[in-house]
Amino acid sequence: MTAPLPRYVREVLQTLRDKGFEAFLVGGCVRDLLRNKRPHDWDVATSALPEQTLALFPRTVPTGIRHGTVTVLGRTGQTEVTTFRREGAYADGRRPEEVIFLKNLEEDLGRRDFTINAMAMDETGRVTDPFGGRTDLRRGIIRCVGDPNERFREDALRMLRAVRFSAQLGFETEPETRFAILRCASLAAGLSAERVRDELSRILYSPRPERAEDAVTYGLLDAHLVSRPKDLLKELSRLAVLRKTGDERWAAFCAVLARHGAISDPGAFLRGLRLESGQIRACARGAFLGKELEGIPDPPGWKLLLFREGEAPVLCAAATAEVLKGPGYRRALRRVLRSGEAYRPEMLEIDGQALMQLGYPEGKELGEELRRLLEHVIGHPEDNRREFLINMAEGDRRNPSPKP
Ligand code: ATP
Ligand code: MG
Repeated sequence: MTAPLPRYVREVLQTLRDKGFEAFLVGGCVRDLLRNKRPHDWDVATSALPEQTLALFPRTVPTGIRHGTVTVLGRTGQTEVTTFRREGAYADGRRPEEVIFLKNLEEDLGRRDFTINAMAMDETGRVTDPFGGRTDLRRGIIRCVGDPNERFREDALRMLRAVRFSAQLGFETEPETRFAILRCASLAAGLSAERVRDELSRILYSPRPERAEDAVTYGLLDAHLVSRPKDLLKELSRLAVLRKTGDERWAAFCAVLARHGAISDPGAFLRGLRLESGQIRACARGAFLGKELEGIPDPPGWKLLLFREGEAPVLCAAATAEVLKGPGYRRALRRVLRSGEAYRPEMLEIDGQALMQLGYPEGKELGEELRRLLEHVIGHPEDNRREFLINMAEGDRRNPSPKP
């Protein structure tokens, strides 16, 4: 038997059924329950039309009403309730033009991508599994529902989803499904960059980021790469030690692609994938710095980098170096960050106000003095004391260093 359902989910299923509708858990949550994993979201498929679902529950959000989805808000969580449906015609392998609401569950399961995602479960734990999802789940196999060529032609994103689930679950892709990916890969060029980015993120943040190599070698990223390199596995598997969110894995991924000639400019690559601009800056700069590092910097070296570049790019640089060159970079950087030693002017035990009292005029000169003090403190953290810094600033004021 599987883990018990949260009360708010069970209430949704029961309320729908009490009113004479069919209602089942579907998709990822069923897959996760059957693997004894805690689902991170709850999807219910029902015979009720969206308006009927809206009328049944006091607190709802019409999330995707056109596609049949209503979010039902419970006391401690939410449930996505979607009317049984199938896609109408697909225009160009991107997104369906329309959806058609259905009366029964089986057809709804038939439009889903993979057998392991095409199961339903009622609140007693009874499973509906028309495509052999349980067997594939047990054997660790990603297999399309129906003819894989057709399914990928309908929606090219499914090819990236296949790689994503294989990375997240550690599953293998069944041969027919894999051949179809190789055949249909060029259709991925028509996908929106945002959808590609979201799946690639999930691959990179998974326990098996090296599976991103499959996305590259299948040709699913061709629209974003200048060539299709091989042998990324060893380097990409080192991404697994990096943080599972944020920039580190993206930065290191860029650096590996650049080293193998698959991209020439990490910034352009990430812009093409519509990453957020702060993230692009940190990753692209970090990928460059990480490649340039020669050996693990000493603490003053890290602090100078942190001062000049800011924290985010330096974290990315350490991650990149760790992947390209070997271990130790991140640990050394973390030690510096935890030491509390100053690497930003605001971390000095003296501020602009104090310098003005010493006669420094507000503006460039004051900024330069703060920087001079910081550069000293970076090399001599023990001197980050107010009294010492005031003395030093006074001395500098009396004997200004020659202009460079
Ligand atoms: P996750 O745990 O990452 O949320 P998930 O299986 O729930 O995984 P979702 O993207 O949330 O994935 O989609 C929910 C369900 O909708 C899937 O399990 C699948 O049945 C179906 N689905 C989602 N995207 C597609 C698609 N492009 N083609 C066919 N079915 C899809
Ligand atoms: Mg989901």
